[in-house]
Amino acid sequence: MSRGTALIVGGGIGGLSTAIALRNAGYDVHVVEIQADLHSSVYGVGIIQPVNALRALEAIGCAEACMAVGYSTTAWGQMLDVDGNLVREMPGARIPGSDLPPMNGLTRPQLHRILTDKALETGAVLEYSKTFTTLKDGPAGVAVEFTDGSSSVYDYVVGADGVYSKVRPHVMAEGLKPVYLGQSAFRLNIPREPEIDRIILQHGPEGLAGFVPIGPDLAYLFYNTTWEEGRWLDQDKMADELRERLAPFGGLTGRVRDKYINDPAQIVFRPEEWLIAPAPWHNGRIVLIGDAVHAVTPHLGQGAAQAIEDGVVLAECLATHPDHEDAFTSYSERRYERCRLIVESSVAIGEYEMDPASHPDFDHAGLTQHVLETMIQPV
Ligand SMILES: Cc1cc2nc3c(=O)[nH]c(=O)nc-3n(C[C@H](O)[C@H](O)[C@H](O)COP(=O)(O)OP(=O)(O)OC[C@H]3O[C@@H](n4cnc5c(N)ncnc54)[C@H](O)[C@@H]3O)c2cc1C
Repeated sequence: MSRGTALIVGGGIGGLSTAIALRNAGYDVHVVEIQADLHSSVYGVGIIQPVNALRALEAIGCAEACMAVGYSTTAWGQMLDVDGNLVREMPGARIPGSDLPPMNGLTRPQLHRILTDKALETGAVLEYSKTFTTLKDGPAGVAVEFTDGSSSVYDYVVGADGVYSKVRPHVMAEGLKPVYLGQSAFRLNIPREPEIDRIILQHGPEGLAGFVPIGPDLAYLFYNTTWEEGRWLDQDKMADELRERLAPFGGLTGRVRDKYINDPAQIVFRPEEWLIAPAPWHNGRIVLIGDAVHAVTPHLGQGAAQAIEDGVVLAECLATHPDHEDAFTSYSERRYERCRLIVESSVAIGEYEMDPASHPDFDHAGLTQHVLETMIQPV
């Protein structure tokens, strides 16, 4: 017997994970995704899955599939200087009693395929090219009208529609906006060089180059660089711009720059924004998850991890509290501090990367290790 009905707005990593977790907890789940299909909502190249992301994916039956197609590491990473000399090992963290690796990397389309297949297998209904036009919360449920003219009433609505969430104004003050960090990221898939068997970070004078293994033969290069807000760069200039910015680097970054940065069409460029919404993350029967309430810059590879954890915790709270108000309150309480730590630590690392000379005592590797050790604590 169904425990209730939930509409999830947004079929990204958070929305799909929540759909699976709620289906497994016995809810009828309907997901609406504004993009036309599974892949048109996937922006970017690869994704870092820290061990806490794998634990959350294990809870919804998706970790094994991610590790089967991706690349699991035996340590988090290494930090190199601009010439490519080793500065520090970054061991990462393991969960006591678990075999999960410190990190797995895979492509975003692979992750989307795995989550979508599992959501469908559990019986969630997914509709593309569709969103809501109105949401009206009431004592008997949330009345929803959709862009295709249909309507329905749900026990709960989950806003999983990302950093520019349209559900968010139904939950909290409309003025909440993401903040641009001052950095943007170039990313490009490359063949996996043998030394990219963990995350490799190489500090430059104005940004951080990094490498992430995302398959047996595949890795991605990223470069977090200082970038004026709103500055536009034509796609056909991406390769020249990236090569120029990576000019000071030797070692791995220098070799990759000279060998693989040729085709501007393959480069994905993305501004880095952050947001942490004050708790509680619900109003009545409408609740928010993922980037809609805690958008994270990529410095700790934790944004998607937190969105997946949100979905798992939300389903647990609904399944264990008979009253939805108590369930949603408990959900925000369990999530807020954890997400705040990730958002604030990621911003601190970004500020350091943009201007290392002004932060001589900043310990990038130490803060990363602290966060990773905090993340293996029970959620
Ligand atoms: C450069 C960069 C690199 C990153 N790398 C990593 C990483 O390695 N590891 C990691 O864990 N995190 C990473 N992140 C963060 C991660 O991508 C996000 O935190 C994560 O995708 C959030 O998931 P989400 O489902 O909450 O939101 P989203 O991924 O934004 O998904 C929202 C979904 O809702 C849909 N949608 C939007 N509006 C509507 C609407 N009105 N109606 C219906 N659907 C709607 C969108 O099309 C989308 O499919 C990175 C972020 C950036 C910017």
